[in-house]
Amino acid sequence: MTLKKRTYLSENQIHARIEAQETPSNHSRMAKTNIVIVGAGVSGLTTGLLLAKNPKYSITVIAKHMPGDYDIEYCSPWAGANYTPFSTAGTREARWEKETWTPLADLAEKVPEAGIHFLKSREYVRDKDHNNTRTTNPWFKSFIPDFRVLDTSELPKGIDGGIEYTSICINPALYLPYLLGRCRASRIIVKRSIITHISQAYTLHHTTKPADIVINCTGLSSLTLGGVLDTTMAPIRGQTILVRNEDPMMIGTTGTDIPDELTYVMMRASGGGTILGGCAQKGNWEAEPDLEMAERIMGRVKELDPGFVGEGLDVVRHAVGLRPWREGGVRLEKERVGEGWCVHNYGHAGYGYQTSFACAGDVVKLVKEIVGERSMA
Ligand SMILES: Cc1cc2nc3c(=O)[nH]c(=O)nc-3n(C[C@H](O)[C@H](O)[C@H](O)COP(=O)(O)OP(=O)(O)OC[C@H]3O[C@@H](n4cnc5c(N)ncnc54)[C@H](O)[C@@H]3O)c2cc1C
Repeated sequence: MTLKKRTYLSENQIHARIEAQETPSNHSRMAKTNIVIVGAGVSGLTTGLLLAKNPKYSITVIAKHMPGDYDIEYCSPWAGANYTPFSTAGTREARWEKETWTPLADLAEKVPEAGIHFLKSREYVRDKDHNNTRTTNPWFKSFIPDFRVLDTSELPKGIDGGIEYTSICINPALYLPYLLGRCRASRIIVKRSIITHISQAYTLHHTTKPADIVINCTGLSSLTLGGVLDTTMAPIRGQTILVRNEDPMMIGTTGTDIPDELTYVMMRASGGGTILGGCAQKGNWEAEPDLEMAERIMGRVKELDPGFVGEGLDVVRHAVGLRPWREGGVRLEKERVGEGWCVHNYGHAGYGYQTSFACAGDVVKLVKEIVGERSMA
């Protein structure tokens, strides 16, 4: 038997074929809207996924860093990440957190390969930290499952109150590749590319036609990216320790006796280990872990949860990530750039995962508006 010789095509060639098949040759031909998304963090990939539901959009994602990379300029891989709403009731952030709960819960329930699971979560409150926003009567208790206020007999030493509910923990090492895979399955072309000015992105669509719309999901780099140069951006440094020990309960506290330091424990899905944190140091760009701080974090976890620490902590690695904070909150708006449009979706600080689907949904609405206006023109 002779084997038939196969011809292998590049990703771009396959996409060109799909586009050719999809383009009707008769009068019903509709021009596609070419979109370039800059950024392959949780914001860029989730935005791509939701935009790709519209077959009239032809989408390219370009980014300096991709899932699988670990770099201080790329925040998403360093996140815990869990779902802990900390917005104020009635704000757009609260809407984003609420609207993102269901898609994440669906993934946790039905899609094991996404690397997301449900976990019981406890938040401990100290009276002396009451200057912060945590309370035992939070706005999100109406939709988070199994909410209850903890009895004083259940509180560890030094803690004055607490709540428990079922939450979600995301393993970024699995979730980001999962999002990327879904983007590829949705006909999005993904390319590694670095831009120095937002206007360059219009020339990077995978077809010969330039992009009509660029989506800016560059996170903290929006501070230095030409054409954006958003000086209201700053890092909020987070330091964590990944350990092999497993704890079926997520824990977070409202504060510690050291300014800008936090205590939290979250076990990731599917052998992803447990993340111990942390800190929230605004304006600090230091990429190297502070090992003295790491000792303090591990000491606090031991006090709070001695059963979990047991014989000791088995450290996999120390890590640092820079949360993309923006004064005034996330920038989610459209802007004219030359002949084209740019939709910004950056500045998610420490809540980029737990608002990801709702923010991406708002981008979809803005793109729809732009396309509607263009077709009226
Ligand atoms: C320690 C820590 C814990 C966290 N915990 C949580 C949590 O529990 N829950 C939660 O919701 N969030 C959490 N976060 C926050 C969350 O990780 C961020 O909000 C989120 O990752 C931001 O994603 P992003 O896609 O906007 O940015 P990024 O992940 O930084 O992605 C930016 C993308 O843009 C690309 N890019 C930038 N500039 C250019 C350029 N010039 N050219 C080409 N490409 C470019 C980059 O390469 C990258 O692909 C945590 C963060 C940290 C550090």
